[in-house]
Amino acid sequence: MFAELILPVPLPRTFTYRLPDGLAERARIGMRATVPFGRNHTYTGIIVSLSPIQPQLDYEVKNVLSLPDEYPIVRKTQLNLWQWMADYYLCPAGDVMKAALPSELKPETGSKGVIREDFKPKLKPFVRIILDDKLSVAFDQLRRSPKQQALFMTLLDRSHALQKKDAPDVVAQDELLQAAGASTDQLRELVRKGFCEIFQQEVSRLETGQFSTDRLEPVHPLTEMQAVAYRNICQTFRDRSVCLLHGVTSSGKTEIYMHLMQEVVGQGRQVLMMVPEIALTTQLCQRLRRVFGQRMLVYHSKLSEVERVEIWKTLLSDESRVDIILGVRSSIFLPCRQLGLVIVDEEHEPSYKQQDPAPRYQGRDVSLVLAARHGAKVLLGSATPSLESWYLAQSGKYGLVQLTERHAGVSLPSIQLVSTLQARKQTGMQGLFTPRLLSALRQTIGNGQQAILFQIRRGFAPVIECTACGWTPRCPRCDVSMTYHKHTRMLTCHYCGYSTPWPARCPSGGNQKLDILGFGTERIEDQLRDLLPQSRPVRMDTDTTSSKTIYERILEDFEAGKTNVLIGTQMVSKGLDFKAVQTVGVLSADSLMNFPDFRAHERAFQLMEQVAGRAGRRAGQEGEVLIQCNDPKNRLLQQVVRHDYTGMAETQLADRQKYGFPPFTRLIMIYIKGRYEDRTRQLAEQYAATLRQSFGERVLGPEAPGISRVKNFFIQQILLKIEREASTVTVRQYLNAIYEAMVKANNEMQRVVFYYDVDPM
Ligand code: ADP
Ligand code: ZN
Repeated sequence: MFAELILPVPLPRTFTYRLPDGLAERARIGMRATVPFGRNHTYTGIIVSLSPIQPQLDYEVKNVLSLPDEYPIVRKTQLNLWQWMADYYLCPAGDVMKAALPSELKPETGSKGVIREDFKPKLKPFVRIILDDKLSVAFDQLRRSPKQQALFMTLLDRSHALQKKDAPDVVAQDELLQAAGASTDQLRELVRKGFCEIFQQEVSRLETGQFSTDRLEPVHPLTEMQAVAYRNICQTFRDRSVCLLHGVTSSGKTEIYMHLMQEVVGQGRQVLMMVPEIALTTQLCQRLRRVFGQRMLVYHSKLSEVERVEIWKTLLSDESRVDIILGVRSSIFLPCRQLGLVIVDEEHEPSYKQQDPAPRYQGRDVSLVLAARHGAKVLLGSATPSLESWYLAQSGKYGLVQLTERHAGVSLPSIQLVSTLQARKQTGMQGLFTPRLLSALRQTIGNGQQAILFQIRRGFAPVIECTACGWTPRCPRCDVSMTYHKHTRMLTCHYCGYSTPWPARCPSGGNQKLDILGFGTERIEDQLRDLLPQSRPVRMDTDTTSSKTIYERILEDFEAGKTNVLIGTQMVSKGLDFKAVQTVGVLSADSLMNFPDFRAHERAFQLMEQVAGRAGRRAGQEGEVLIQCNDPKNRLLQQVVRHDYTGMAETQLADRQKYGFPPFTRLIMIYIKGRYEDRTRQLAEQYAATLRQSFGERVLGPEAPGISRVKNFFIQQILLKIEREASTVTVRQYLNAIYEAMVKANNEMQRVVFYYDVDPM
């Protein structure tokens, strides 16, 4: 018997080993196998296929040393998906395996530590009520100690002892004490007097919240509009596997998700609901938990290793009662039994894309493949869909269902553009603030209400702007903002490498100075403290939210009114729901739009629309959104004011087509990183030249990115722009062949870091 293994080595292939007698009978696909590798290494990998016939090989077949598992730890559908990812994202299957498995199950190098004992069960004290006598007797006995009486009352209530006389519920000791505000001593007294007993019970390590299964709530009935949308989604799923739900913020998309979940779960299949960032979805978790209780699992990056393994094992077991998984992008790797539906909420969010390390995958896109492997449907939801999804919905490949109104008649906030150029000319700016925004803030705070200020963190590579007219240089070939490289004093396009000297003065007429664009949230906070001493600002960005606890405290304080101006980056645009937010300010729409990225305008629209959605979220309280910008006549900004997503999509897609960007092309970014600047550059040029022999004009670069040197590595990137219709299999074959040829031709190739980023963002 021969086994094909994925091993944790950076080579794009699988490895064959012989299974000796004693192991051959036990081996199954999806089990781990420990094998010798090279001269004196031992690796553990996963068996992906088994065959009685020895394949043709150019190396000597060695024996599998041991099989640590009694049953497979990976399902065949997962292996299938791994292989697809390795192929599509042009990375070793070993890298996909490393990303997919929890560390505890991960095939580590060496022979130790691969065989794990089962985890000790986690025990927790619970309280069981004892109701022998009449209640009145009990109260009488406790009359003199009101604390104990109160504790007893809470226990009576929590255990539903009056409704379920024969079998009252047991109550977790810590929850009981917390609810009653009582101490362990008081509880011990109750035990001594014979009113209850304490015992240890095994609990799951998985966070399931305080909602016990017997107190679940039904889902809300859908409104008429929502019901129509729901039926249209079901209709779509009859002949299509993907549906885009385009619904404005607060239109009830989540309510519709819950109805669909119920339906699918009722058919005995599982639902995977993906969200961009679990830290931002506390409210969502609670909503789902109230309806689905323990049948839902939550999966995110802050879980401990033990919790991860427990989730993995729970899902592997075919008896598990879990049928809903709420998770971040990596949840596509979980061993789901049989998915019926995948929901991708906020499908436009860039955080679905994994940047580093490999596999550099797009979780939303992979979820489509995952769903197809299970025969499941996919619902993509967003108020501002990605242009990729929108395009596919427009072309009929996906179904499209829309919700155009907010729930309960709440209106969309009114958005106004405030010209910084005009302010500069007339009244003057007060630091980064126009007088208009400042007076709105003053008034809001004066009325005891709150404000949110938004500023994207300054781009890593500065963009320049004319101080008078707001002109920024754009690449004539790609229509993206060019990046100013200080040491060469050149403006460069990140996509095609087009370069031009820094003009120093604005070319559009006047002899005006050019300025480096962009300021961060910190400067806003400083200025606000000076300009409005009565404000109590708090800043929320990656600098201030190192942990989930800090993040939650910032939000709690704001919710409680301890702070009254929340200043932040894209973090403040996501799904926050505050009652008292009257004013939302965007400090500089220009630094959003002039980002050196072909998606900058799409992203700017999404961010402004989402952050605007934080204002005036209660009926009868119209919110005000002020957007500071150079040019209020700008087309994109006008579309933001009108909440005109469709218009934005149309104009942006036309530009994408004109300049040959996705969704009309596919991009593959090729990275070469080396220790020596010149040699790395030369190698990149040689590589690009070789690529051009096969791909011609489709090859752009090599180009050094904005930050051209990271951790002492010099970076060169080459962009490949391929027609949408081209076969990805063929492209892959070419790329692999070119790489092989380069390795043979130039031994410098072995000394650099080389990788692909397919569909880069
Ligand atoms: P979205 O997901 O589109 O942002 P939500 O589902 O969060 O919208 O709905 C916004 C608010 O309106 C939530 O507080 C939700 O509970 C409420 N809501 C929406 N639809 C209904 C409904 N059919 N019944 C009761 N409340 C609803
Ligand atoms: Zn260009």
